[in-house]
Parts: sequence; C-alpha cells; structure tokens
Amino acid sequence: MAHAEIVRMSEDALDMEALRRAGRILKEGGLVAFPTETVYGLGGNALDPDASKKIYAAKGRPSDNPLIVHIAEWESLFPLAAEVPEAARRLAEKWWPGPLTMIFPKSDLVPYETTGGLDTVAVRFPDNAIARELIRQGGGYVAAPSANTSGRPSPTLAAHVEEDLGDRIDMIIDGGQVQIGLESTIVDFTEELPVILRPGFLNRQMLEEVLGEVRIDPGLLKEDPSVRPKAPGMRYRHYAPKARLAIVEGRQESVCEKIRELVSAREGQGAKVGIICTEETRTEYPTGLVRCIGSRADDTTIARHLYEILRDFDADGVDYIYSEAFDTPRMGQAIMNRLIKAAGHEIISA
Ligand code: AMP
Ligand code: MG
Repeated sequence: MAHAEIVRMSEDALDMEALRRAGRILKEGGLVAFPTETVYGLGGNALDPDASKKIYAAKGRPSDNPLIVHIAEWESLFPLAAEVPEAARRLAEKWWPGPLTMIFPKSDLVPYETTGGLDTVAVRFPDNAIARELIRQGGGYVAAPSANTSGRPSPTLAAHVEEDLGDRIDMIIDGGQVQIGLESTIVDFTEELPVILRPGFLNRQMLEEVLGEVRIDPGLLKEDPSVRPKAPGMRYRHYAPKARLAIVEGRQESVCEKIRELVSAREGQGAKVGIICTEETRTEYPTGLVRCIGSRADDTTIARHLYEILRDFDADGVDYIYSEAFDTPRMGQAIMNRLIKAAGHEIISA
C-alpha cells in the first residue's frame, strides 16, 4: 500500500474538505487514524466486518481483543446496545463526550468481528472535535483501537502513528499532541454493579460520585497477577518499550539512591541506561540518560508524557530504563497500571 496521506488540522480550525474525504475512506472500508483526547485511534467502519478485520491486520492485534465503537451523538448508542441501564445514562450525562468507555450487551447490528466474538460491545463518545466530525462524516460508527502496532506504546503524536502504521493505512489526521495521553477509563455495565475494567483519566472516586459503589476488576490489581483481567486487551504484555524497564518504588530519597546505584552498576557493564524522573527529582541523577516525565504536583503531565518517553528511549537505543513509581492521588492508578505492564511486572523496592 502507498504511504498514508497526512493532513494537519486543529480542533478550532477543522479542515472540512479533508474530513469529508476521510469520511468517504471510512464508508468505502478504508482506515483513517485520528486524534482523540486520550490517544490516537485507528478508525474503520464499526458495522463493516471487513473493516474490523483490516484494523486487526494493520495493528497485528489478536482478533479476540475487541474494538471500541466510537460515536458522535448520544442517540447513536441505542442501535448498538441491547440494554442501557439507568446508571450508565447518569454517567454519560456527566462524562460524555469524554474519556469514558462503557460496556453493554450488544445488539445484532454490531458484527462479532468488531467485538472479538463477545456478546457485549464497548462504546465511547470522544470529546475531541476532529474525532467527532470524522465519526459523523464516516457514517456515525467508528471502531477505533489505539493507532499503534500491537504491543508498542500507544501513540500520543501523529508521528508515532506514522512510525508504526504509515505504510498500512489510508490517512493520518494530525491534530497535534493529545491532552490526556492514556486510554479511556472502561466501565462494564453488564454485571450487578458497575466494574472498572481499565483505569484512566476518570478514577474510581470520580465514578463513585455519580454511581455510588463501583468495583475494580480483580484482574487489574497488581497484588494478584494470577487473576485474568476481564478486558481481553488488559491481559497482554503491552505498552512495552524495547529496553528492559524496571520500576523502583519506596520513599523518594531511597528511590533516587537506589536508581543511582542500579544505573552505575549497569553503566559499569557498558550498558546504555535511561532514567524516568519528575520535576521534583530531576537534579538527583548525575549519570544516565535522564528524562523528566512531568510534575508530581500535577500528575496529568505525567500521564500525558508516559508513552512518548517510552518511545523516545526506544529511539535512543537504551538497554535498560529505570523509572520512579508514580503513586499520585489523581491519576496514579491509571499511570501505574500502564507502567507496570510496560515493565512486565518488574518492580524493585528501595
Ligand atoms: P484499545 O482500543 O487499544 O484502547 O483497547 C480497547 C480495550 O477495550 C481493550 O483492552 C479491550 O479488550 C477492551 N474491550 C473492548 N470491548 C470490550 C468488551 N466488550 N468487553 C470487555 N473489554 C472490552
Ligand atoms: Mg491499545
């Protein structure tokens, strides 16, 4: 396939001509990557089984890992879901459009190719204006996983999409850096109580403010790696850089000291070593390739840069990466969920 056409636009200056063309590509069964507020998505027509198959092929994604269906109007939910509980309506009222995916029993309209063979469907109404206009132009139902090669860190810049999928898709819409940088929070409404299947920008407390009691999928808790997560995608080693990544946790001074020690030991063996630190600790590391991920005082900055930093270390060809742990109150759960998977559960206590 020829290299993808790349078009640039911003949310407050939509290129309607390009979006109409992108919509036509989707309606004809092609693939378009586009920005959302969470990460870049790889879009295809969610109601076309062949388009879903193309998405799996382009990403190299296992076909039992279901796709999220993106919509651009609240009313578009009803043809997809066989049942929408009252609690889901309340949550949507507060957080749609936004970084929230909800799971419902699926209707016959949704092909099994899109849901990875499941009888449930994941639906999201994104907030990004480019994404919403593309969905409208493309017929209203766009299946879109993250626009990366399966197993690599999710894309937060159009350049990441081009690097992974430039030769495999029809168009990339470049809308600049995404705002959030981690995938949507997934809430399952097919059980007795709502269950968080994937943490994200919306944390448990924010969900409970609307829903009352919310459970966390036991498969997500790091204390118990033997329980399988319910969301198939959360079972794979994921988001991984090429280097070997380890997380160091403990009190801040002990963490810095431990990382200095690990880095100098690896450097002594001739290895190239990267360090992920924060504004608060950036002066603590005299050697190693030090990258500041953001500030603990505003942990949304840490979330926004996580995947980009992992990709940048890949480009530098480091052999090892040591990262501080980020158990921050607001987004710490979502950040650590991704970081622990990227590290293949390698956690060192300082
Ligand atoms: P991605 O689109 O790459 O962010 O991944 C979508 C995530 O949603 C994966 O972890 C999927 O396994 C999960 N997912 C999508 N549909 C369902 C569903 N019907 N039930 C459970 N998990 C789902
Ligand atoms: Mg993904």
